[in-house]
Amino acid sequence: MNAPVLKTSLPGPKAAALIARDSKHVSPSYTRDYPLVMAGGHGAVVEDVDGNRFLDCAAGIAVNATGHAHPDVVKAIVDQAQRFLHMSGTDFYYEPQVRLAEEMQAIAPIKGEVKTFFANSGTEAVEASVKLAKYHTKRHNIIAFLGSFHGRSMGSLSLTSSKVTQRRGFGPLLPGVYHAPFANCYRCPLGLKPDSCAGECVDWIEDQILVHLVSPDEVAAIVVEPIQGEGGYVVPPKQFHERLRALTSKHGMLLVADEVQSGMGRTGKMFAMEHFGVEPDIFATAKGIASGMPLGVSCARAEVMSWPPGAHASTFGGNPVSCAAAIATIKLLRDSLVRNAAEVGEHLIAGARELMKKHQIIGDVRGKGLMIGIELVKDRTTKERAVAERDAIVQACFYKGLLVLGAGKNSIRLSPPLVLTKAQADVALTLLDEAIGECGSVVA
Ligand code: PLP
Repeated sequence: MNAPVLKTSLPGPKAAALIARDSKHVSPSYTRDYPLVMAGGHGAVVEDVDGNRFLDCAAGIAVNATGHAHPDVVKAIVDQAQRFLHMSGTDFYYEPQVRLAEEMQAIAPIKGEVKTFFANSGTEAVEASVKLAKYHTKRHNIIAFLGSFHGRSMGSLSLTSSKVTQRRGFGPLLPGVYHAPFANCYRCPLGLKPDSCAGECVDWIEDQILVHLVSPDEVAAIVVEPIQGEGGYVVPPKQFHERLRALTSKHGMLLVADEVQSGMGRTGKMFAMEHFGVEPDIFATAKGIASGMPLGVSCARAEVMSWPPGAHASTFGGNPVSCAAAIATIKLLRDSLVRNAAEVGEHLIAGARELMKKHQIIGDVRGKGLMIGIELVKDRTTKERAVAERDAIVQACFYKGLLVLGAGKNSIRLSPPLVLTKAQADVALTLLDEAIGECGSVVA
């Protein structure tokens, strides 16, 4: 399937009719940036209900790791569905769940034995990780980071601090959650320069939070996204994670990596923590794990996953069809897609950096593999955020047949399926170039 191919104005008549029905009975809390109504998909191409084809650099918010409807994943789903759809791993046993736990052991960014808890989503995987950290350490405080996104159920939301809209109206949230600055080197929260950075954000935890707010021996865990996702696709320096590891080990806290978005091959390694050479004690992953079937897992060092029967469980968590999809997904990732994410990602990042020469509005291009952020600014010196321009560019991309999403206040995220080819990456760059040219301030 080639893309983009646009046959109607957007939205087409069928899409417009469905959106009108949606607006009557579907919750208004969803954030649809543009009127895409999907009918089908193949690889990195999405077709809408009016027969328009789009190149997909959004992947259902960084989910469709193996592309849309990968035949191996579809086959695994059908085979499993024909056998049984559900039996609840909470009360019974079934092979796909055990097998997936074995697969997680094989790919986990942790040496030694790992155990897996099964959930249905990213937020549930984070909830499980936080509960486990509290249970295991018998401590109740958690440190998280400003700009982070960990989900929207009440526990995870208490850690989430990406946008105020996500928290507004829902307080009081979980007590005992403290937020520290995240190592965003483009906008250093401490006003320092990347080339002389020694991970001072971690000093801030030691010198401020652990001195003025909470005693280190009462902190269960530090929960961190290896690369901040929703907050803007922000890649911290290696020393940030190294120092978090050292700090948590020193005080008997657990290091919890939220790999919900950065995991499952997206960054060109199976888990983003591998880029930093740091092992967490617990990690949560979801999104790409089952190519779009609902699944989240929390994995921990075997000695940390020490809770007894009944302490935590979920009726649907680890659904057998989702587990079958995950096993097929992991095989594809290991065989070729993690490598493809690294190679095509490098190509796409290089292409986006080339666009910086032409478009002054691009302040920063960052990322690993196919987790790429393009931050837009009104002025490269003041770094004033180009928020309206970002929104306009995301829209313009859609009307050209390219699906992208925003991240943070003023960044574009490129999170395509990991099957994206270099040729498709080039098409994406051309369309992005055009969209920025039309909506951003172009410098000759
Ligand atoms: N953690 C991270 C890093 C995420 O990016 C997300 C979702 O974007 C979540 C947790 C929550 O996942 P879900 O939307 O599946 O609950």
